Amino acid sequence: LPQGSTPEAAREQAARTYELDRKHVFHSWSAQAALKPMVVTAAQGCYLWDGDGNRLLDFSSQMVNTNIGHQHPKVVAAIQAQAAQLCTVAPAHATAARSEAARLIAERTPGDLDRIFFTNGGADAVEHAVRMARLHTGRPKVLARYRSYHGGTDTAVNLTGDPRRWPNDHGTAGIVHFFGPFLYRSRFHASDEAQECERALEHLEQTIIFEGPSTIAAIILESVPGTAGIMVPPPGYLAGVRELCDRYGIVFIADEVMCGFGRTGKWFAIENFAGVVPDLISFAKGVNSGYVPLGGVAISPRIAATFDDRAYPGGLTYSGHPLATAAAAATITAMAEERIVENAAQIGATVLGPGLRELAERHPSIGDVRGLGVFWALELVRDRETREPLAPYGGTSQAMIDTVAAAKAAGLLLFVNFNRLHVVPPCTITEAEAKEGLALLDQALTVADGYLE
Ligand code: PLP
Repeated sequence: LPQGSTPEAAREQAARTYELDRKHVFHSWSAQAALKPMVVTAAQGCYLWDGDGNRLLDFSSQMVNTNIGHQHPKVVAAIQAQAAQLCTVAPAHATAARSEAARLIAERTPGDLDRIFFTNGGADAVEHAVRMARLHTGRPKVLARYRSYHGGTDTAVNLTGDPRRWPNDHGTAGIVHFFGPFLYRSRFHASDEAQECERALEHLEQTIIFEGPSTIAAIILESVPGTAGIMVPPPGYLAGVRELCDRYGIVFIADEVMCGFGRTGKWFAIENFAGVVPDLISFAKGVNSGYVPLGGVAISPRIAATFDDRAYPGGLTYSGHPLATAAAAATITAMAEERIVENAAQIGATVLGPGLRELAERHPSIGDVRGLGVFWALELVRDRETREPLAPYGGTSQAMIDTVAAAKAAGLLLFVNFNRLHVVPPCTITEAEAKEGLALLDQALTVADGYLE
């Protein structure tokens, strides 16, 4: 309960919140009329509370961003202290919170990526990474994966390889899409990961050759695609992409907006693939667990040098905002002190991975389990043989709606996309909380099973 509030007063406040939301708030990615948003009144750690006072275990981390959990006291205190000291400052000045956050990020990026350009979130990080690559190479085109999400702004949504691009696609963004490896949904799923990897790299090289290498500025991909289904790339794929980029003088952009900052059990997901260093990394979300909007681009010295004597033509009023970067510095420091990244790796390997695979043995609606760290997807199917999804690509179904509703009624909040349930709790989740969530998921999956013939 908010301090000093009674249950009745809290319920009245929640009813007013809902009413005003429906009257005045225009929601993203939604037809407005049928919306029934859940009122959230409070959150703590891995839990949040709805307007009726129900407690929910947050297996979604909201937008897969509250990596350090809700209301971490060290991050809240850092934001409060920064607000008391200096709330805002122009990007041209140097300020302590921004400098420290940049240092802490640069110390953790792979290889030599040690310059940080700050943005307000993930989509604008992607926009700037692409702009830097185009200016660095003098080339116009960008290759991006199908089955990807890169953000809701103009270039970012056109890079995106899911149906959210379709109504936004004006066909003039200089973007060409290609397929990455994804054995489960490949016609060749009887073959092995090594063959899938070889096929995907061959397809990417052919795409480069037929588009014209001298026209391609960058290849952008999520080190581990998130919203599109948490397809962990086979060993060798990202090293192969790096090799193709080197061969054809193309900038390699790793989009780590969702998979970065501990989500996969490493600071950056690309560290799961030893020795692969991209030229640019876009990040956001987990960098400060979303407590204040923040994103950015980590830049290699080679690309940064392009702008040594030539102005970088881009910027934002709130680039490296003091409150956001103070939150980032506190988040990264607390994650290091409390070994939160290690916790994500450990819970994934010992509880979530084995627990989800065990659920797959008992629930015929689970077609595939994949992931690492606290980054897992369950692919729900009508039939394991045909792999027919429980909801169509780009759509939903009564089976998915009812399954997710059952989870929520039991006290579990999931991230859902088409026929997939994503298990993406905060990196701070304890073994007991993970097991509690798996038990609630077990109950909800009986609803999905009920839709199978
Ligand atoms: N890139 C990836 C990989 C993402 O997952 C997202 C958001 O989910 C974005 C970019 C866009 O980030 P934002 O919503 O902060 O603009």
